[in-house]
Amino acid sequence: MAASLIINFQAVDARNVKARPLLLISFDGFRWDYLTRAKLPNIERIIREGVHATDGVKNVVDTSTLPNHWTLVTGLYPESHGIIGNFLRDDKIDKVFVPKYINADYDNDPRYYDDGGEPIWVTNQLQGGRTGSIMWWGSENAVKWSRPTLQMPYDDNVNFTRRVDVMIEWLSQEYPVNLGLIYFFEPDHIGHTTGPDSVNVTEAIKYTDVIVGYLFDRLKEKNMLNSINVIITSDHGMTTTSEHTLIFLDDYINIEDYDILSHDTVIAHIFPHKGKLDKVFSALEKASKEPNSHFRVYLAKDIPERFHMKNNHRVPPIVAFTDIHYRFVANASRGDHFPLAGIHGYDNEEKDMRPFFIATGPDFKKNYTVSSFDSVDVYPLMCQLLGIKPAPNNGSLNIVSTLLKHHEDDTAATLYTYIFVIIVANVVAGVFAVAVFRQHRYLKKRNTWMKLTPIDTKKRVRSTRPKDIAAAGVHLMAEDKDHVSDEDEIDDMNDKNRNK
Ligand SMILES: [Zn+2]
Repeated sequence: MAASLIINFQAVDARNVKARPLLLISFDGFRWDYLTRAKLPNIERIIREGVHATDGVKNVVDTSTLPNHWTLVTGLYPESHGIIGNFLRDDKIDKVFVPKYINADYDNDPRYYDDGGEPIWVTNQLQGGRTGSIMWWGSENAVKWSRPTLQMPYDDNVNFTRRVDVMIEWLSQEYPVNLGLIYFFEPDHIGHTTGPDSVNVTEAIKYTDVIVGYLFDRLKEKNMLNSINVIITSDHGMTTTSEHTLIFLDDYINIEDYDILSHDTVIAHIFPHKGKLDKVFSALEKASKEPNSHFRVYLAKDIPERFHMKNNHRVPPIVAFTDIHYRFVANASRGDHFPLAGIHGYDNEEKDMRPFFIATGPDFKKNYTVSSFDSVDVYPLMCQLLGIKPAPNNGSLNIVSTLLKHHEDDTAATLYTYIFVIIVANVVAGVFAVAVFRQHRYLKKRNTWMKLTPIDTKKRVRSTRPKDIAAAGVHLMAEDKDHVSDEDEIDDMNDKNRNK
């Protein structure tokens, strides 16, 4: 586990079987501010009846699909979960990882995923829950020997309403899932091809709203509206790019000197060939310092800490980042470059990279907003909702717990607990004070009596009754005082009774 991992145990002891089921839905590439692009009656109703992060969620670098979907379900930064990009090379594993949108048949080797993170379905199932995953990125791979209880494998051809229908079936069957995850690939695809500002994206957003409406209609039909929590979010946003914002790596370095994971990319993962590291790095560094270079380059160890991506053995020796809107093209003659109008993957400080976040359900407040939070917080939030104990993660409940109804109840309960503790403490202190006072008064009396008693320190008797002691004229042992007191009183009482 990477050094920066902040272990964050939250206060949930075990799975609360009374916890309500939860649905996590991702619409790929749904930027935080797309909500204002069109009339979206279903999404707007969720905002009215639920919660909304008005400035979107701060996601993780690389602001791409796979690292961010994996962060949402693990609460870890990429350097801790190991999915540092859409493409991966791990020199301990003898093949390069290619995402399924490049090759849907590609064997997504579990060794890439089982690298320190524990996805929410594993956490849920280890604590007795059942999970259904519809195409959630990475869920086809076993992690900690576990896959989601039910799953629909990745297939772009399964239409969106069918995905909803299958989930409704899983939620309402004899042994229902208590956690469901659904992935939709729009509006990302349209955003790439026609650009985030296009009318096509607006249409895709409206269709998203139709799917949300369909989901809630189906939940209503099954009488589940008041018994299920639903989080709808995304992995990243989108910004414009063009053929005029390309940076050709061939202008600075020779493709014979290095390997690169993607030949058309915002973040270049560069693996120099043996003995070529200095040559490749110094050429890129020099070029990056030219005016209007529009990129920065780092040796792995110098990648900014705030990206949370450098402490992992999969990080290549050299990583280069373009400025927003720009892209690297490597080995241009090979023809891997393809024209795009929209792109993502940039610095997560760029607001265009932020995804949206809305949620509704019986455990969420109504018509409540926060400005933003980190996407690593979604995992502990989900664990809280499911009543399960989270695995170690980088997230925090500080902001996201305010989205929940019981947050105020908890605050009130804490206050009542404090008041109760103070009252009990005062009562105990009062009783103690009285006891001390009485003891003090008794001892004073006792000492007076002892002073009147002649003492011979050389003799001892077994009896501790004052009469015997007094008769023997022996020293009274300090630890016998109480004993003496009781027996003496009883003896006196007996004597008095006999005399009656
Ligand atoms: Zn994309």
